[in-house]
Amino acid sequence: MSKTGEMLHLRGNTLHAGDPVALPLTQSSMFHLPGAPDGLPTYGRVDNPTWQHLEHVLAHLEDAPCLTFPSGMGAISAALFATLKSGSHLLIPSDGYYVTRVLADRFLSGLGVSVTERPTTTFTEGGFDGFDVVFVESPSNPGLDMMDLPAIAQAVRDAGGITIADNTTLTPLGQRPLDLGIDVVVASDTKAMGGHSDLLMGHVASRDPQIMERVEEWRRVSGAIPGPHEAWLLHRGLETLDVRLDRMCSSAQVLAERLAEHPAVKHIRYPGLLGDPSHDLAKAQTSRFGFLLSITLESEDKAETFINACSMLRPATSFGGVHSSAERRARWGDDVDPAFIRLSVGCEPVEELWYAIEASLNAL
Ligand SMILES: *Cc1c(COP(=O)(O)O)cnc(C)c1O
Repeated sequence: MSKTGEMLHLRGNTLHAGDPVALPLTQSSMFHLPGAPDGLPTYGRVDNPTWQHLEHVLAHLEDAPCLTFPSGMGAISAALFATLKSGSHLLIPSDGYYVTRVLADRFLSGLGVSVTERPTTTFTEGGFDGFDVVFVESPSNPGLDMMDLPAIAQAVRDAGGITIADNTTLTPLGQRPLDLGIDVVVASDTKAMGGHSDLLMGHVASRDPQIMERVEEWRRVSGAIPGPHEAWLLHRGLETLDVRLDRMCSSAQVLAERLAEHPAVKHIRYPGLLGDPSHDLAKAQTSRFGFLLSITLESEDKAETFINACSMLRPATSFGGVHSSAERRARWGDDVDPAFIRLSVGCEPVEELWYAIEASLNAL
């Protein structure tokens, strides 16, 4: 059976007569706890029945124990603080999600962690000897370059280190880093997992029980816990993840093929395009080519006009929602052309979306 088919009935198959079919939202910091608390919810920083069910569903999708956090950065911080200590060596991509680099530069290095950055496309050059933790992101956000995850996972393991993969852009339904040999998966569930641009959440998943024990302790002690309402919303979003991704990824393929032919588009990246530098790795490692694409137009001005004049593109940062959105990444300091646009394809009917995008490009 499919992951999604099972997921939709994980809870239902445990219900008793009269139980609600939808997941109840348990908004409580205290639990009725007479006598020995063994195995019961104790206090809202330690556990909560709404997160627990969400984590059960996520664990099912990841095929690994899973812990949730109040944001993607909360999850990434937990994974890094649980695996690094003073004197550790960390390797991260120089062109991945920029806040991970800020965390490493501004906080981890101040605690005695030595941080090295390498570009995604030449990530293996120099090998992995001496690195305790190797953090990867594939495809990279926003460049959409990919890494050979199985080869890197094996090389890092041979060198005695552990790998952490940020799988935000593809979700566990698009790419399964743990099955490719990666030790720990982290993700921002704020994006496609939640899918409705109304919550921030993140998760960490790993089949290594010692790592998960440290991550759970970090969450409990640091207090970086998800709110029950966000957990409930994310659970609701997950129930439609598969349908949303199907629509978003198939529309992205259609749009990418047409954008590649449009005279206003100077350069396009989409892993699903034959000839894209990521195409072969994507074919080997992912089950979907994703819903993110990038286009570079002639100038910064034209890029802004295109985004702001298009009736079906929200000019917004972040991605993965049901509404298509776009932005120039240079406005946040990403090392890209000023006219480089990251476009997140949403759930609109694809012909209507193309009509709006084409009209805005033609008007430039
Ligand atoms: C958004 C994002 C994050 C951070 O997630 P938040 O939920 O915003 O904290 C981390 N990694 C990637 C690849 C992202 O796109």
